[in-house]
Amino acid sequence: MKNNNAKKMSRIRIGGLYLSSDHFADEANKTIGKPALSDQVIVNRRNVTPKLNPYGEEMRDNVRKIFSEQYDLEVEFSWSKHCGCTTCPCSPGFKIFIRVPANSMLRVREENRVNVWVDNDGKITIRDEDKIASVIQLMKLCYR
Ligand SMILES: [Zn+2]
Repeated sequence: MKNNNAKKMSRIRIGGLYLSSDHFADEANKTIGKPALSDQVIVNRRNVTPKLNPYGEEMRDNVRKIFSEQYDLEVEFSWSKHCGCTTCPCSPGFKIFIRVPANSMLRVREENRVNVWVDNDGKITIRDEDKIASVIQLMKLCYR
């Protein structure tokens, strides 16, 4: 659903992308994806950066491709330490956005957002895939 007109656009959040530790460069590689949370993990995760290694970048591109090819949604990613949890940095990740006309007043409520997980072995899991259908429905409302 590419929009090529000059209308003013704004971006809305449709979900979150969480990559496991193997996809990150530097410190993040040691602190993301630990199975159990501890105080130390929380402390470490405050220092996590969005810097991915080439493998991680490839996987993020693959996720972008899935949204484009399977759902016709052009997504953008934006790093957030609080992607999956507003209270603490236990779930850092990339917020997933799409662009919609600024005047559409469209929002995707938190409970309707789509979460995507990429395991160390490269397996991509879209949780609650049915929620994408409601995102696409909303998109259609924008372009009526
Ligand atoms: Zn938390």
